[in-house]
Amino acid sequence: MVGAILTQSAAWTNVEKAIHNLKTAGMLNPASLRSFALEELAGVIHSCGYYNMKARKLKALAEWFSFEFSDNLEDLQQADPAVLRTSLLGVYGVGEETADSILLYACEKPVFVIDAYTRRIVDRLGFRVRGTKYSDYQSFFLAGLKTDIHLFNEYHALLVALGKTNCKKKPLCRTCCLADLCEKN
Ligand code: SF4
Repeated sequence: MVGAILTQSAAWTNVEKAIHNLKTAGMLNPASLRSFALEELAGVIHSCGYYNMKARKLKALAEWFSFEFSDNLEDLQQADPAVLRTSLLGVYGVGEETADSILLYACEKPVFVIDAYTRRIVDRLGFRVRGTKYSDYQSFFLAGLKTDIHLFNEYHALLVALGKTNCKKKPLCRTCCLADLCEKN
């Protein structure tokens, strides 16, 4: 869950540093996230940017986890995904992508995560998604893929990898594995 907040607008290497620092400081658990001062927490996660805001978000999420599930991961994982998503969206700093990342990775629910890489690749490939909302892109994938947590996990990871290596803001189409299929190319 911590990773889902820290990755907001941050490179993964910087998130890794922040997670390492949290571990070293003994803060990588909900009780510590709640009890440490906001400024102290912000200092520990400094590497991943927007650290003051992210520290507030982490505290809000840790409060929610205690209030709703008494810090019990098993109870969280057994909760109904739709109810959980609505509840998560009510937490400060949790938008659709963050909520779905928590559902997929922490709760092991078959939810397809949409991020900026996914939108960019789908658009450039030439698929016609009906609408521009998060839910429009999510429906596009859900209509075409078997509902399978491992498939969703792997699919998202591959899209992120392609977005980082080739389908960047300035795309490197010549070496892209999807070049033959791509409308933009
Ligand atoms: S061919 Fe270019 S635009 Fe198309 S998906 Fe690959 S990198 Fe992106």
